[in-house]
Amino acid sequence: MPDDARHAGAPHGFRTRMSHGGRAGTKTHGFVNPPVHRGSTVLYPRCADRIASASKRFDQALTYGTQGGPNHHALEDVICEIEGGTRCQIVGTGLAAVTVPLLAYLSAGDHVLVPDSVYGPARAFADTQLTRMGIETTYYDTCVDEAGMAALIRPNTKVVYTESPGSHSFEVQDIPAIARAAHARGCKVLMDNTWGIHHFQPFGHGVDVSIQALTKYVVGHSDVLLGSITVNSPDDWTAIRSTALAHGHYASPDDCWLALRGVRTMPVRLAAQQEAGLEVARWFAARPEVLRVLHPALPGAPGNELWKRDFTGACSLFGVVFRPDYSVEATHAFVDALSLFGIGASWGGYESLALPTTGFIKRSATSGDLGGPTVRIHVGLEDVADLIADIERGLAALAAHRDEAEASK
Ligand SMILES: *Cc1c(COP(=O)(O)O)cnc(C)c1O
Repeated sequence: MPDDARHAGAPHGFRTRMSHGGRAGTKTHGFVNPPVHRGSTVLYPRCADRIASASKRFDQALTYGTQGGPNHHALEDVICEIEGGTRCQIVGTGLAAVTVPLLAYLSAGDHVLVPDSVYGPARAFADTQLTRMGIETTYYDTCVDEAGMAALIRPNTKVVYTESPGSHSFEVQDIPAIARAAHARGCKVLMDNTWGIHHFQPFGHGVDVSIQALTKYVVGHSDVLLGSITVNSPDDWTAIRSTALAHGHYASPDDCWLALRGVRTMPVRLAAQQEAGLEVARWFAARPEVLRVLHPALPGAPGNELWKRDFTGACSLFGVVFRPDYSVEATHAFVDALSLFGIGASWGGYESLALPTTGFIKRSATSGDLGGPTVRIHVGLEDVADLIADIERGLAALAAHRDEAEASK
């Protein structure tokens, strides 16, 4: 079995591991894919087996539906392969993967540091739920360095939360520097690694707990919501697993099955979307209407130096900042004129998206001013030539909107 070969010291490539991971022992009636195991009750052969199972809730034992079944465990194993961790907890959404680790390490009276460009619903969780529980949040400049982070940590700071690149503004964080400052003061480092997927190996860069919205590229087809929390030490596993179970977190085995199916093609989708995303990003960058393109893998773009140092690739989500002489309404006209790009929030699927973000993103530690009205672009698996022809039509609408506004002055 490929998995065993890896443990015997013969690592396979990423595509091979995504093709074979989580399949050991799952063949039924000779079919390639495993069945979906739906279940609440697990029957024990004897009373003694039931007693013995009580101590196994931190293992992939089959004891009760909420503890997970074969589909969950197969997906957990594959996510560990993607992120380089040792244990993984699957939860029902990416947002639950954000909240469980925060609740695992924070108690009343504690303090948490959160980057200013954090995923919006994570900010809302801190501002409402954590505040209600007597946990104080400080938002920090996403581009903080090691000394800056050290200065922000208080005696009661327990968690340094990170997300790189930042939501909507795509700043790349210096995770190793932040982790050094955090660990020197006994803080846990949590990271939302959804953009990086396997292009950023969190545990090699000082992260203790890695969060993924599997909803994005792992599922890859915009039809399932799932999250994962991956760790690399037994203590972190105990903290995460016990918190997830105590809160009753669970994911549907059907959804895990679909995520596993997504995994099989994810490496080729990621490679194709990385290339197409860069092509579209470069094309935007050369346009006179565009002030700058927020894509960490573009030479000269913000965060490109750190991206080159720490990442092995990029996904296909980036920002386009239009020149400030275009209004927000003109960018809406641009997006409305697109026919191949949907207007929608999630990403990582096979279809392209364009989402105006100006006015929708909240910042409190920094100004959040990107220099002009901004549209977030997700490049799917369509032909790049078709996407660019569509964008050209959109840019005509952008210009027409500005000309009409000028004429009516
Ligand atoms: C989408 C997303 C999430 C949340 O995932 P859901 O499955 O939609 O709850 C968390 N973090 C980031 C960076 C995301 O893009």
